[in-house]
Amino acid sequence: MLKLVFSFLLIMFASDSLASNETVSGIGKYDSNNVFAKILQGKLPAKIVFENEYVLAFEDIHPIKPVHVLIIPKGQYRSLVDFSSTATDKEIVSLVKSMSKIAEVMGISKDGFSLMTNSGHHGGQTIPHLHFHLLGGEPVNWEKTLREKNSTNN
Ligand code: AMP
Repeated sequence: MLKLVFSFLLIMFASDSLASNETVSGIGKYDSNNVFAKILQGKLPAKIVFENEYVLAFEDIHPIKPVHVLIIPKGQYRSLVDFSSTATDKEIVSLVKSMSKIAEVMGISKDGFSLMTNSGHHGGQTIPHLHFHLLGGEPVNWEKTLREKNSTNN
């Protein structure tokens, strides 16, 4: 079952490579100075919306939808590739189960939401600690969302 869930996630999400190669971005050595590591260590503030033994969820600092929450494992995993190949079953189950719980907590279960992760350089991952973007509160039209995001960045 777990294998099925993560094969599905891996197909959906942009990734550099599945190869276990130290030089591939999204894999390799964990940087414990990254922003999300600092949030986990309590060195940076965050608006926390959910927490359990294995998972933390907090509001994105630059929301692109009315609800924009980042869901992260508490363990040190750079990306989905790293997590799915090295995390324990308990961590994987907890993360997946938390996702729908957090959607419920944020009040977006009924109307629906989008959940995605960027992995590595080509995926556009900017912070090297695995995180899922939970987006909702209005229709998530990816084409339009990305166009708007790019026009504000230019
Ligand atoms: P990605 O581009 O997928 O790596 O996403 C990184 C996300 O982290 C972006 O949506 C940022 O807005 C968000 N972010 C960066 N720094 C913080 C922070 N201190 N607190 C909350 N979100 C952050």
